[in-house]
Amino acid sequence: MGEDGSRKRLTRAFGMPVGDDQNSKTAGERGPVLLEDVHLLEKLGHFDRERIPERVVHAKGAGAGGYFEVTADVTRYTKAKFLSEIGKRTDVFVRFSTVGGEKGSADSERDPRGFAIKFYTEEGNYDLVGNNTPVFFIRDPMKFPDFIHTQKRNPATNLKDPDAFWDFLSLTPESIHQVTILFSDRGTPATYRNMNGYSSHTYKWYNEEGDHYWVQYHFKTDQGIKNLTREGADVMRSKDPDHATRDLYDAIARGDYPSWTLEMQIMTPEQAKDYRFDILDITKVWPHADFPPVKIGKLVLNRNPANYFAEVEQAAFSPSSLVPGIAASPDKMLQARLFSYHDTHVHRLGPNYHLIPVNAPRNSPEQSYQRDGFMRTDSNGGGGPNYWPNSFDGPGPDISAKEPTFDVSGKAGHHPYSHPNDDFVQPGNLYRDVMTEQDRENLVGNIVSHLGEAKKRIQLRQTALFFKADSDYGRRVATGLGLDAKDVEKLAHMSQEDRAKAT
Ligand code: NDP
Repeated sequence: MGEDGSRKRLTRAFGMPVGDDQNSKTAGERGPVLLEDVHLLEKLGHFDRERIPERVVHAKGAGAGGYFEVTADVTRYTKAKFLSEIGKRTDVFVRFSTVGGEKGSADSERDPRGFAIKFYTEEGNYDLVGNNTPVFFIRDPMKFPDFIHTQKRNPATNLKDPDAFWDFLSLTPESIHQVTILFSDRGTPATYRNMNGYSSHTYKWYNEEGDHYWVQYHFKTDQGIKNLTREGADVMRSKDPDHATRDLYDAIARGDYPSWTLEMQIMTPEQAKDYRFDILDITKVWPHADFPPVKIGKLVLNRNPANYFAEVEQAAFSPSSLVPGIAASPDKMLQARLFSYHDTHVHRLGPNYHLIPVNAPRNSPEQSYQRDGFMRTDSNGGGGPNYWPNSFDGPGPDISAKEPTFDVSGKAGHHPYSHPNDDFVQPGNLYRDVMTEQDRENLVGNIVSHLGEAKKRIQLRQTALFFKADSDYGRRVATGLGLDAKDVEKLAHMSQEDRAKAT
């Protein structure tokens, strides 16, 4: 209603008033419809274009706005302005998601959960695009499209394909750590509020002096970890496929704002040199005993989106959105994500997706020489110069924003990972030392119910990997699947190449 109590006037896209929005314009009472009903044409034409391309991964998601507050002094590690002062707050927008399912898929699917944060800092937007798992399935981006194909639908049947799922994983042994976490009950979080978020990658922080540190981010849920069991997730899939989306929205609507404590693991370059794990390998964590996480901030979500499409669907996060004081590490997966996320947003939303309000840099307006393109909805630089260098007072580079130089060396080539046998150490530790007996029982049950759908030769190959992580782990999965544990053990002692040939 308008201020005087009258209803606002319905208009067409360009503001012209609409006289009738219920009856099409026809030749006579019973039609046919006239082509000159331009309001009808515009209404149908826009409706026909309502869907934008679905995200190829992370299609199903929920989001909210809020803030990040600094709670510890980290200025000796990073010069990032938004982290420069205790008590400093920065607006954020966060999107949670599942990975493999389509936009209408169930929130309770077994899947990693995306945990993407956009910080609207005074030095431009900083995106941290993480997951609820501290590790990932693969460490080389060359494998990514293949991996995702195996998590999606079979090209012939259009059904989910347990053979492809496990065939790829069993031929990709570095996935065993992430598979162990995914098939624990952490693979089905009770809600988005009850899970942690991790950078998973190692990033680089550098300070005013140009000294750098390697860091990992851990957003620990203040609501506590809560998971669904396999049975609980199955029930939820039919009872309320949108349960996590609903839970987040309802909690914020009732003023029960979810929060996370940011803990950092920080490593000096000297500590990194001879560290027992490769710090650039995303299939590994940094054990807490070696690098105890330090609390540095709080993330609070206190605002529901006013419009889902405008904010959540159009939100676009990219690991390439970095601010001075924070840089990428040479982690190969991260390097490829620096390209791929921006690239997919350009495909999905267009070359000017940075102008969409949820993505626009609120606290550091764009001042560049990029011009034109589809949906250039701002003043497009007006009459100012569109080239650099210029002598017409156009924006110029600020050398203080340069990342300090760093050494690179070595031979160019397609280098395989040099110590693959350590892939089994951390999942073994997780199984033996971190999980309770109940966790282990649920893990084995979850694996058996899914892997049991794959061909027997694939079951054998995959179970050998569980055996290599821990012999009890392998034996219990073998028993659950009705496999002969001796066959599994024999395969476990073969090289990966021989195991692939034998199965
Ligand atoms: P710690 O005992 O210090 O840490 C174990 C961590 O494991 C916990 O702090 C918790 O992480 C996480 N955890 C607890 N239960 C589960 C579960 N069912 N599934 C997955 N993760 C769980 O040992 P380490 O640091 O030496 O790590 C041992 C193993 O724990 C690692 O190999 C890795 O598999 C796992 N882990 C380690 C993390 C790390 O950054 N060091 C982070 C997460 C898991 P949180 O506090 O983050 O909830």
